[in-house]
Amino acid sequence: MISTQYDAPPFPLLCEVIKARSVTISPSFTAIIVAGGQGTRADLAVPKQYAMLAGKPVLAWSVDAFLAHPACGAIIVVVPSGDEERARAALPHRKVIFAVGGATRQQSVAAGLAEISKLTANEDIVLIHDAARPGISHAVIDRLLRAFDDTAIHGAVPALMVADTLAHGAALLGETLSRENVVRVQTPQAFKFSEIVNAHAHWASDAASDDAQMVRANGGKIAVVAGDAHLEKITRAEDMLLVERMLAGRQNMRVAVGMGYDVHRLVPGEGLWLGGVHIAHDRSLEGHSDADVVLHALTDAIFGAIADGDIGAHFPHGDPRWRGASSYQFLIHAAKLVTERGGTINHVDCTIICEVPKVGPHREAMRARIAECLELPISHVSIKATTTERLCFTGRGEGIASQAIATISLPEIE
Ligand code: MG
Repeated sequence: MISTQYDAPPFPLLCEVIKARSVTISPSFTAIIVAGGQGTRADLAVPKQYAMLAGKPVLAWSVDAFLAHPACGAIIVVVPSGDEERARAALPHRKVIFAVGGATRQQSVAAGLAEISKLTANEDIVLIHDAARPGISHAVIDRLLRAFDDTAIHGAVPALMVADTLAHGAALLGETLSRENVVRVQTPQAFKFSEIVNAHAHWASDAASDDAQMVRANGGKIAVVAGDAHLEKITRAEDMLLVERMLAGRQNMRVAVGMGYDVHRLVPGEGLWLGGVHIAHDRSLEGHSDADVVLHALTDAIFGAIADGDIGAHFPHGDPRWRGASSYQFLIHAAKLVTERGGTINHVDCTIICEVPKVGPHREAMRARIAECLELPISHVSIKATTTERLCFTGRGEGIASQAIATISLPEIE
């Protein structure tokens, strides 16, 4: 049972902290996402699970929704043989297990179940989901998990009532069918692990419409919970537009702010790099790369905003690839990681701390260079400078320091 009950705290700020502490999640689940479609029906250049949808691949929507759910133990993504690289590229930074599927959906699910059997920590419940339904919400997952409060239930499916008239017919309209007790069944479908494994073992045909059908055929009881119109399946190219509009409208963004700070030593030389601009000077900045202290601080600020380590972790100091490297590459890499998460950089602000060289004459060139690297309007890039009144190492001209702040928006899963 999922409990999000908590006593109303006296201060709103405490609310989320207390809520987070009081959540008890049981049962936990493993997710299997079947991403086997070849996309021929969707008439897309790439299989639909890899097509971009509101900023990220269709497949990534389902993975992110499961990853963000507190009861999710592991995620198995089942792809056709030969698709592993493409699937990995569509899911950078996501902790998932890849499995190679079979010729049919049923065989692919079986491959996912076999992968779960290898896990040391088996969850009680498995959620089986089609990648072609990217609009998964935590509300649907929670409803499925709660269905297991009834211990007599072997599985649960989300379903929607049918609003349209149902009738036989192709060229000419035939008999009208009753809509009474008719539902449209969606995924994810949730099962007790042992039940779905048994159902697969005993299913003789190759033509299962879905997993619930197999569990029912094996004598299992399947609960029906409320589905979600956002779970519409993408089958045709025009479905992409429809689902994209639904997801773009639904997606909540959170603002994240990261800070960065860097220092490099000044040594005799013939100029230095600051903010992506080369400045003629009687000294240089010492470093493994081009020692651009401003771009280093800014790159770290972006890593901070996505909570993904620091510049040293991404570009190790001793790595020969980065000897003398231009630091704009680091910045572009950090920006790419934001984009891969479906995020947007809103604004960056840097402060350069030194007595000389004077920053003012180079400010606009630095803003333009950084704006170019981050693909931002120049109005979203700020460069400031200050001295330390001849105090401290910057005041004595021993080095240059830089601070930076990056403000970004990241999609938040419901
Ligand atoms: Mg540095």
